Amino acid sequence: MKSKDIRKEFLHFFETKGHLIVDSAPIVLKDDPTLMFNNSGMAQFKEFFLGNGTPKNNRIADTQKCLRVSGKHNDLDDVGKDTYHHTMFEMLGNWSFGDYFKKEAIAWAWELLTDKYGISKDQIYVTVFEGDKGDGTSLDEEALELWKQHIAEDRILYGNKKDNFWEMGDIGPCGPCSEIHVDIRPADERAKVDGKSLVNMDHPQVIEIWNLVFMQYQRKADGSLESLPAKHIDTGMGFERLAMVLQGKSSNYDTDVFQPTIQKLEEISGIKYGAAEKTDIAIRVIVDHLRAVAFAIADGQLPSNTGAGYVIRRILRRAISYGYRFLGLNEPFIYQLYPILKAEMGDFFPELVKQETIVTGVIREEEASFLRTIEQGLSRLNQIIEQLGDSKIIPGDIVFELYDTFGFPADLSRIVAEDHGFTIDEAGFETEMAKQKERSKKATALVTDDWVILDDKGNETSIAYDNTEADVKVTRYRKVKNKKGEFYQLVFNQTPFYAESGGQVGDKGSIVSANETIEVVDTKKENNLIIHFVETLPENIEGVFQAKVDISKRNATTKNHTATHLMHEALREVLGNHVEQKGSYVGDDYLRFDFSHFSKMTEEEIQLVEQKVNEKIAEALPLIEKREASMDEALAEGAMALFGEKYGDKVRIIRFGSSVELCGGTHVKNTADIRLFKILSESSTAAGIRRIEAITADTAINALKDAEKNYNDVLVALKTKNDALKAVQSLLDENASLKKQVEKFVAQQASAEKATWKAAIKEINGINFLAIKTNLDTAAAKQNAIDLTNEIENALIVVGTNDTVKPSITISIAKNLVADKGLHAGNMVKEIAKHISGSGGGQPFLATAGGKDVNGLDAALVQAEEFAK
Ligand code: ATP
Ligand code: MG
Repeated sequence: MKSKDIRKEFLHFFETKGHLIVDSAPIVLKDDPTLMFNNSGMAQFKEFFLGNGTPKNNRIADTQKCLRVSGKHNDLDDVGKDTYHHTMFEMLGNWSFGDYFKKEAIAWAWELLTDKYGISKDQIYVTVFEGDKGDGTSLDEEALELWKQHIAEDRILYGNKKDNFWEMGDIGPCGPCSEIHVDIRPADERAKVDGKSLVNMDHPQVIEIWNLVFMQYQRKADGSLESLPAKHIDTGMGFERLAMVLQGKSSNYDTDVFQPTIQKLEEISGIKYGAAEKTDIAIRVIVDHLRAVAFAIADGQLPSNTGAGYVIRRILRRAISYGYRFLGLNEPFIYQLYPILKAEMGDFFPELVKQETIVTGVIREEEASFLRTIEQGLSRLNQIIEQLGDSKIIPGDIVFELYDTFGFPADLSRIVAEDHGFTIDEAGFETEMAKQKERSKKATALVTDDWVILDDKGNETSIAYDNTEADVKVTRYRKVKNKKGEFYQLVFNQTPFYAESGGQVGDKGSIVSANETIEVVDTKKENNLIIHFVETLPENIEGVFQAKVDISKRNATTKNHTATHLMHEALREVLGNHVEQKGSYVGDDYLRFDFSHFSKMTEEEIQLVEQKVNEKIAEALPLIEKREASMDEALAEGAMALFGEKYGDKVRIIRFGSSVELCGGTHVKNTADIRLFKILSESSTAAGIRRIEAITADTAINALKDAEKNYNDVLVALKTKNDALKAVQSLLDENASLKKQVEKFVAQQASAEKATWKAAIKEINGINFLAIKTNLDTAAAKQNAIDLTNEIENALIVVGTNDTVKPSITISIAKNLVADKGLHAGNMVKEIAKHISGSGGGQPFLATAGGKDVNGLDAALVQAEEFAK
């Protein structure tokens, strides 16, 4: 069965069981501060398990793009070394939200695997949770009894909390689970060693393919478990592992999911998969990492130096260095694999087709730049090795520094060290790594207490679009600690505060009661809750508060948001329809917009965009808003859906004239409110991605006022009424002619001095020696010294410039003296420059040193005479 059909069959099967089939959520999470990447099928449904939202259907199935490279689930170190853990993989899943429970989940999993996919029953093992004393839980008898109806009892194994109890995080919904394992060893091996003894023992052919989680508890902050009122099903099956089983292969990489890219990589590298263990691992790492990086970039996450972008950059660099080290690939090559991936997976994941130019452009540029880093790292390391000489050990902090600041992999340092007969101080390196881990853990550590629920009726409603003030009551609160300190998070029954999302910053403001005013420092969304950050808890938490948004900040932000829409449209008009939003920041201070475009914008293009936006402002276009539109309606109106964004059932359409966008942000009632739009800069952030920063309204008007004031100051300084340019030009001309004159005078003075110098030369041991102080500048003094050396035989000329700030010494020696007497100007100048607190050096026949202390000049010149003796 082809992998495409395997996926199709899964979705079809659960459709026939009353499930709604939904799309995969984006792989990169935007509005969840607790998770960077989607790491399991259930992540996009978290809010339903937490009771903060209602699903479209209480049965849902899908395939979810997952990435397990950070946080609680991190498989990175196994990837490539084994044959069944990937960084990016698809998780097929079916869910019940308070609907069916263990009975159906077990029966359907069994039916699909054995009946529909035809896996032999005597190759399957299942596990049930044995209970845990510490948690006060016991054997999952319900699951055990249900499994017995399908599978022989001796194929049911008991598992402990580590394998058979699934938790979303440190706190939150959780429950026992049943795993399904498949034994795909050949029959003779199966006859020899009982598969049972290999389950959960990291055997590459006795592997877990499906996990059925029975969500029935809530883990609280104090570690205790509480029964959930509604019970849920959450299952996840590894798509690539299932393909391996159904295609009769013994490695995920032998399936049609990976073979096409492997073949392309064989072609590029000239190395066959299967030739040797080391090159096999490299090939697996590369074709695996390609998928992680490609899907992340297609979903809008570009490699960068922070957060999720940094994780992606590190994965890509890992692939590059495996290619470099083991396949001898020192030119960009990963981007060349992308078209194959697109051809294989683009049908099901159209973002791969749509984003091809960006993905390949970004990967290629990252490759080229990292390969340069590798070259630089190598030469730096070679230098270090040379300096270390006999010690034969490269200190751990040096290896760490190369890794941490230059991204030079420690493995490469190790290899280079070995080539030179060196080793690296592994323990020292580990210590540095551990220190860094501790630092980053501290930086991201977030401690959250349990919510204290005051009122659990209904969900909080946002009234932020229509209000900036309202009477509110706190419905729940909790304490959180992060690197910035201790905060309280408050949730209200209704809120006028806009929560950070879609690039727009969260509102600030205050909540006021009869006896206190508490500042709201930020507003964010988490699992569909709008959370207000405050530094102190109100005394009368159960009272009524007047919530007041900081209106001036909100208004400034709102203007920037509408201006962003107008600019987006203008960019598409001026540059073309390939312009797509790739990121944005909308604050009260300025706006930033990243978009796809391949070359630097010209000055004319920038001005045209600015002009178009200002025209729309002048047209005074009213806001036309539809809050509850369907996606079809929005697309028909001309709005664009972005990849990597999660849209609800109902979308909000924001229209100003011909600008139409899907948007959840706040906007002006009329474009005239923006008053003025001014672009500050246009730059590049990555291959094919440009960035514009701009300002509006008072900020823009004030910036223009400042510029005008500056200009007026310049006019005054230039003593002219209006034509600054002409005045500057005449200054420049005058300056150039003065410069020429000065040069002429200096030359005259220098040649006059040269005559004096010549007269002062004395003969010492056959050397025509001169040590002299001059008021010429260093360049002129040096030139004089050179000229004199050429004019006179056997010359040794030492000249010190008598400059109180930057004295210097130049030594010029006739070439024959260098050879005959073994003189070396560079060494000599180094030595006598000490008198003027200076340093310098140069060639054997010519050298200059600069110093700081002119008082030592005489002593230096006296010492110089020693060289002639
Ligand atoms: P394992 O013990 O093999 O790492 P897991 O217990 O971490 O698996 P779950 O979190 O239960 O796995 O995920 C559900 C299913 O997703 C697994 O049964 C497996 O088929 C698949 N899966 C998990 N991690 C990976 C991965 N890194 N690469 C490919 N498939 C995976
Ligand atoms: Mg795992």
